[in-house]
Amino acid sequence: MTSSPFETVDCVVIGAGVVGLAIARALALAGREVIVVEATEGIGTETSSRNSEVIHAGIYYPKGSLMALTCVAGRRLLYAYCKEHGVPHRNCGKLIVATNEAESERLAEIKGRAEANGVEGMRLLSAAEAMAMEPNLQCTAALLSPSTGIIDSHSYMLALQGDAEACGAMYAFHSPVQAARVANAGIDLEVGGAEPMKLRCRLVVNSAGLHAPTLAKKIVGLPSDRVPTAYYAKGNYFTLTGRSPFSRLIYPVPVPGGLGVHITVDLGGQAKFGPDVEWIDSIDYTVDPHRADKFYAAVRRYWPGLKDGALQPGYAGIRPKTVPQGAPAQDFVVQGPADHGVPGLINLFGIESPGLTASLALAERVRDIAAT
Ligand SMILES: Cc1cc2nc3c(=O)[nH]c(=O)nc-3n(C[C@H](O)[C@H](O)[C@H](O)COP(=O)(O)OP(=O)(O)OC[C@H]3O[C@@H](n4cnc5c(N)ncnc54)[C@H](O)[C@@H]3O)c2cc1C
Repeated sequence: MTSSPFETVDCVVIGAGVVGLAIARALALAGREVIVVEATEGIGTETSSRNSEVIHAGIYYPKGSLMALTCVAGRRLLYAYCKEHGVPHRNCGKLIVATNEAESERLAEIKGRAEANGVEGMRLLSAAEAMAMEPNLQCTAALLSPSTGIIDSHSYMLALQGDAEACGAMYAFHSPVQAARVANAGIDLEVGGAEPMKLRCRLVVNSAGLHAPTLAKKIVGLPSDRVPTAYYAKGNYFTLTGRSPFSRLIYPVPVPGGLGVHITVDLGGQAKFGPDVEWIDSIDYTVDPHRADKFYAAVRRYWPGLKDGALQPGYAGIRPKTVPQGAPAQDFVVQGPADHGVPGLINLFGIESPGLTASLALAERVRDIAAT
């Protein structure tokens, strides 16, 4: 009799970004045996360290969408988690600012959508009220979102990792999943890297971010029509030299296809502008300094004090899209056996913003699908 080269494990989470880490924690807390396999050298090296670090309120997403539901629920869970675990964060609030009468009229509609999603405390402000709160601001009216905040995302990821480890979860870095096959008793994974492994898993969670569709296409036995094509929309950031002129986050009224060039602040008081939207064909994090030209005009509509030459190229992140440029906005996709017919497999696709905010709620959803 020949023995199987596959080692049997209960759950494997592929990807140690913020979403994979939150899922590993939820599964480990539920008493499951968990191994996280990560292609790179550590946690959060891709999209999870290339975002705005904003705790989103849940304002713009269509009512009932997975983004709306998991953002609002995830935000509440995240603030409580940060307090409990000492994760640095600040509930600084955000202003959505109108700069002409047509935009002012849209603020009430945005407030209505936010309230339909269950966002608390949204308040319309006159120009005078908003400019008294933020003296460098110029606007015709504003909408205050008091529940928006900022977070040190790396500290958050470390806390998630620690929680899961305390419940017995294990992490394998430098461990790219290279091949997968649906087997009789689960999913077989072939993991490469320094210490190659062959794992027979009762549950596999594909939380590979930008690479999740490519990985899913490699799973022999998963119907290929259940796997979306991967599209990429880069978001470039520019940083401001000197301290932030604002203490809250400042967003223009959204434009079709994007949130407009906004200002966010980090916990160190540094302001950054962006992200913009640049559709690309392959993963490339270079920031073209010429893209700053468009930022100046957009930002001066609400901050006339922005000086020439004040913006420096910062960094870029890439949104994992499941639809191409010009198509209606996508929702998060969390695909379980009921969706694709393969027992023991959960795929996450298109986990762009607000994935950081939604991470704890997405993790609960995955844990619950895994339990059925
Ligand atoms: C520009 C930008 C701004 C954003 N701003 C915000 C914000 O302010 N607030 C907010 O809530 N959300 C924001 N987001 C969204 C948030 O950053 C993401 O939703 C979140 O980071 C996704 O985490 P993840 O774990 O799914 O993916 P990732 O962080 O990309 O992690 C995936 C991991 O999988 C690993 N991997 C891939 N393939 C394999 C393989 N074959 N084997 C093993 N490992 C593999 C990768 O190495 C990576 O570590 C923003 C996103 C972008 C792009």
